[in-house]
Amino acid sequence: MLELPLKTDFTGKVVVVTGAGGVLCGDMARAFAQAGAKVAALDLNEDKVKKLAEELKNEGFVCEGYAANVLEAEQVKAVHARILEDLGKCDILINGAGGNNKRATTDNEYQHEAKAGQTTFFDLDTEGVDFVFRLNFQGTLIPTQIFAQDMVEKQSGNILNISSMNAYIPLTKIPAYSGAKAAVSNFTQWLATHFAGSKIRCNAIAPGFLVSNQNRALLFDENGQPTARSQKILAGTPAGRFVESNELLGGVFFLCDDRAASAVTGVVLPIDAGFSAYSGV
Ligand code: NAD
Repeated sequence: MLELPLKTDFTGKVVVVTGAGGVLCGDMARAFAQAGAKVAALDLNEDKVKKLAEELKNEGFVCEGYAANVLEAEQVKAVHARILEDLGKCDILINGAGGNNKRATTDNEYQHEAKAGQTTFFDLDTEGVDFVFRLNFQGTLIPTQIFAQDMVEKQSGNILNISSMNAYIPLTKIPAYSGAKAAVSNFTQWLATHFAGSKIRCNAIAPGFLVSNQNRALLFDENGQPTARSQKILAGTPAGRFVESNELLGGVFFLCDDRAASAVTGVVLPIDAGFSAYSGV
């Protein structure tokens, strides 16, 4: 009998998910809880993670919600101490907190098309750029510094970072977010190497284009038709469609499964309906 590689059973594992108040990582937190894990859901937004934890507990799963800013090491350390008491040492860390900021975004795709009144490259706010780099890079580094200590003690564990399509080739308008996610992909390889001897694996997913409440207005007009940017995205995606949030979960489970992915470390897995594979021709 062959032992089948995918078990998707995380019974008893302590899974810490940052950014769990958000769309994607809220789903990841829920998925791990449903697969038997004890989930610690962290977010700046306490209400959202408390609500998620309450819902999951009512359904018979194990989840606690904690408020913390991933950029404030003392806050993350305090939450770590509470998680040790409530759930135990961290087995899996999902570094989900991240995102872009309007202050680091240009209105125009190309300088030669700039119109009066638009925010161009020359108007980008360096503090906004710093904010995006700090959120995505330090927001991955700081929780890893704190939770990977549990994994070193156990000599086992998994770290999963969230990169993006723009890490491979930058997207127009969002230079800081693109650069910061490229740094997250690079850091994933660095961590994989650094912790290999401690039997900790570190990987990332690079989600493709998803429709969320936040970007719906950018992707579709008031009649529900794809905007010009959306049409470019769909034309650049061989499958000709957006990715659903629940389509990330198979890749997340695979990378965090010590049996299925025992020799997989330092990879950034695109889950993108083919976007990163297609040259456009
Ligand atoms: P989201 O904006 O819905 O959620 C992000 C969550 O992170 C929010 O609940 C927010 O409160 C929290 N957060 C922000 N700053 C924080 C901080 N300093 N400390 C703690 N929590 C903080 O985002 P999402 O769409 O669910 O994205 C999750 C991750 O996936 C991010 O890293 C994002 O960059 C990445 N990503 C998203 C997409 C997409 O299309 N949605 C695509 C590729 C990558």
